[in-house]
Amino acid sequence: MREFQYTPIYLERLGRGDLRRRADQARARMMRCDLCPYVCHADRNRGPGVCGIAAKARLISFIPHFGELPALAGWRGSGAVFLEGQPLVFRSTTELPRPAGTDAQTPAHETGREMEPDELARILLELQGLGCHNINLLFPSFVVAQILEALALAVEGGLRLPLIYNTQGYDSFEALRLLEGVVDVFATDMLVGYARDARRYLKLSDYPRVNRLAVREMHRQVGDLLLSSEGFALRGLLVRHWVLPNRVAGTTRVARFLSHEISPDTFLYLLDDYRPAKGIKKGGTLGRGPMPDEMDLARRAALAAGLRRVAPGPLPTMRLPGTSGPEGQGGLSENP
Ligand code: SF4
Repeated sequence: MREFQYTPIYLERLGRGDLRRRADQARARMMRCDLCPYVCHADRNRGPGVCGIAAKARLISFIPHFGELPALAGWRGSGAVFLEGQPLVFRSTTELPRPAGTDAQTPAHETGREMEPDELARILLELQGLGCHNINLLFPSFVVAQILEALALAVEGGLRLPLIYNTQGYDSFEALRLLEGVVDVFATDMLVGYARDARRYLKLSDYPRVNRLAVREMHRQVGDLLLSSEGFALRGLLVRHWVLPNRVAGTTRVARFLSHEISPDTFLYLLDDYRPAKGIKKGGTLGRGPMPDEMDLARRAALAAGLRRVAPGPLPTMRLPGTSGPEGQGGLSENP
């Protein structure tokens, strides 16, 4: 099988010691933490903040992940590192309470095992040894400092896989700035377009504002998504958007923002697999998955907004200079 050659952005742009310097900067911010939009100012050397995570990252699991989008999973899997975080989930309108100082709920989340940076670094190298195409950090938003520390060690140990920052898009500008020249692909959600729906269904009224700022910064750093000749994500911004029933996701607003304020070549992946979580009433606004006509409407809205790369579906060519061959259709095919 033919393989593409690609140098990760952190090897291309950062000098020796830069990752450690970034890690130190991030670690300093954790003493009065503002590394996520909750900005709770916890001293994480003394204990956890609103996120529930103190000085050490907590690992849930790591695997070669074949269930990812094809552009990330390839044929050897994406090196997924599941970190403990607080996944944002769609909820009914009745659930309370909220953490002090925010209008967000603390969802139940899996707990992981505390990790020293050298343990996490060994895991990144193990995933590389297993042949994964990339390192895919899931729920990284509360542990940017710990990731940078581990990455510095892993790069010294020979890591050379592209880095995917896989987030729900509720990320702070400060944390993202620390990742400039570090992350190859930002794979982010844009969950909801309107504050009223974010307040109602995510219990997080500032989600759209924070999300748009984050997406803008991600795109400033890495630009539009560039694919290898096999359709494999190498560098850039990939946006996921779950189409929700009854237009709750605000697809038109999201698509217009991406097309008019980011780039008409933003790679937007429309997902149809939303299903109501436990506790959401059947028959309510979010009580079912999206219907085929709602998916069709969402796709047409994205195209009408001017977006040229809406997946799944045929995509115009856009490749990293130096690669060749037909571009994938939002996925991958094996080359002989
Ligand atoms: S990452 Fe955690 S400790 Fe830091 S601001 Fe966010 S919630 Fe607070």
